[in-house]
Amino acid sequence: MGTADADKVIRDHRTHIVNPGAFQRSLVREMATYMTPLLCAGVRDVIFVATEPDRDEGAVLGWVHSKEYQSQLYINSLPNRASEADLVPGPGNRFVGNIWATAIETLLHESAHAAVHLLNTRVVEGDCTLGFWSCDKATDAAQWPAAALALARDAMERLRIRASFQTEWNRLHQSFVAVGLARPYGLELAAEEIAGAGFMTAYGGTKPMEDIAEIVAQVLARDITGFTAIDAEVNRGERGDLGCMALAAVTNGVPGGVAALYTKVLLLRDAGLISQEDAAACTGNAGIDTRGTPGVHFFTQTGEYSRTFSDGLSAKLGINDAGTSFKFRLAAEGALEVRGEEHPATFALILDLGPAEQELERVSWPRGIYTLDLLGENRLVITVPDEASVTYHVDEGMVLITSATSERIEGSIVMTRAWRPHTTPPVPKVASELPRITFRIDGSR
Ligand SMILES: [Zn+2]
Repeated sequence: MGTADADKVIRDHRTHIVNPGAFQRSLVREMATYMTPLLCAGVRDVIFVATEPDRDEGAVLGWVHSKEYQSQLYINSLPNRASEADLVPGPGNRFVGNIWATAIETLLHESAHAAVHLLNTRVVEGDCTLGFWSCDKATDAAQWPAAALALARDAMERLRIRASFQTEWNRLHQSFVAVGLARPYGLELAAEEIAGAGFMTAYGGTKPMEDIAEIVAQVLARDITGFTAIDAEVNRGERGDLGCMALAAVTNGVPGGVAALYTKVLLLRDAGLISQEDAAACTGNAGIDTRGTPGVHFFTQTGEYSRTFSDGLSAKLGINDAGTSFKFRLAAEGALEVRGEEHPATFALILDLGPAEQELERVSWPRGIYTLDLLGENRLVITVPDEASVTYHVDEGMVLITSATSERIEGSIVMTRAWRPHTTPPVPKVASELPRITFRIDGSR
C-alpha cells in the first residue's frame, strides 16, 4: 500500500505512509518466499511508514497491531530501520545482508501475530462465567478476504481448537510446566536454560503470543544465507534458534528436556504456520518411533520393539458415566505373552479434558503432557481377560501427546509403576518390568 491508501490504514499512521522503494518491495517479496500459505494469508496489507511503533506494539523494524487493523503489517521506513537507503547494497553498506536477514526474521515474527489473529476469527465464544473455559473473543473476520478465512477455518477444524490459538498454546505449555518439563512465562532465564524451559529464544519466554511468533520466525529464518534480490553476505554471528539447536542434539526419541519445544513445533506445523520441511529441519532426529504405522506399539525399557496392538484401534472424545467430565479414550486390542503363550489383551487409555460444563463440541484434542495415576482422572489399563492376574493398572506415569489433528494423533507413554489388582495381595510392577509405549491413530474423525 502507498500514500493513496491512507484512509485504509490505522489512523495514527495515516500521515506517515511512505511509498516503498524498489529494495523495500524486494524485501517483502523475499520474506514471502519463507512463508507458508496460512502465514502469508494473515498479512493482507504491507505498509511502509516513517514512524516508530507505539510502545508494546512489536519490534522497531515492523509491527502488527493487536487490537485492530490486525491484518496489516507495518514496516518502519525511518533511517537505520528498514528505509530504502538501509536496504540498498553497495560499498557504503557493508552489513546490508545482515540488515535484510534481520528484517526478514522480524517481519516473519510480526506476520505470525497477524496469522494468529486470522486463526482467532474461528474462536467459538462461550460462557465466560465458567472458570475452566476460556472466554476469548473472536477476531473481526471482515479484516481478511474469504480465501484467508477459509485457510483459518481449515486449520482450526483440523486442530479442533475452539478457544483462541494462544489459549490452547498456553494450556499446552502449562501442561509441561506442571510436571517440571517447562518453566512459566515471564522469568529471567540464562541462555542455557531457554530451550529446556520450552522456548526458542529468551523473548519467546515472555508470553504465549511472543513464544508462538519467535518459534515461527526462528524456524523459518534459521538458514538465511543469501537473497535472490541482492548479492550480499549474511554474517550475524551467533544463531538465534536456541530451541532448534537443542533439538539438533537429540539422537532419538523425545527426551523430557525438549518435549515441550518439540510438541510446540509440531503444533505450529499442524496449524500450517510452518511447513513440514522446516519443522523437520528444526526437530532433526527427535521424534516418536511409531514404526511408520498406526497402532499401540510396545517397546522394552531398553528400546527394543516387542509388539503392536492394532485391532479395534480407536480414539474418541466423550463424557464420563457420571456426566461430569470430558474424556479422551484411546483403545486397541492385541495379544500379550503370558508364560510363553499368547493371550488376547486390550489397551485403554483415558485422559481427562476438563469439567463437562459446556458443549463437547468446544473440547479440543488432547495435546501435551498428562499424568497417569491410579485414582486420578487419567488412567491406563492393560487387560488380559483370560489371565486376570496379568491385568495391570498404571499407577505412575506420563502420557505425551505430541501431535493431534483430525488426521492423526501421535504420542508416547512412560510408566514408572503399575499394579496387578487381581492378584492376592495386589502386586506392584516396577519400571524395569513395564513396557514403553508409542501410539499413532490415523483417519479422519
Ligand atoms: Zn511479537
